[in-house]
Amino acid sequence: MIVHRYNIVNGKYSEATIPNGWKVVTNAEDDTTINCIHCGQQISFKESFESKRYKDEHGRSYRECSICYNNFLPLTKFQ
Ligand SMILES: [Zn+2]
Repeated sequence: MIVHRYNIVNGKYSEATIPNGWKVVTNAEDDTTINCIHCGQQISFKESFESKRYKDEHGRSYRECSICYNNFLPLTKFQ
């Protein structure tokens, strides 16, 4: 599965490959178990965060676990 990942160094999106077994979503109607799009850890959708770096082809954000989200957050301030 191909997704778009933001490159903080050059400010552009490039394609990244996500393992086929991972369930990654941009939205969910019910709370469901998904994989963090960055590290793959299983998390509940309700506890996931809107990714600031991974998007689908329509510009919708995928979901990250709290650790990945919080690790990346400081980097976005240097854009
Ligand atoms: Zn993660």
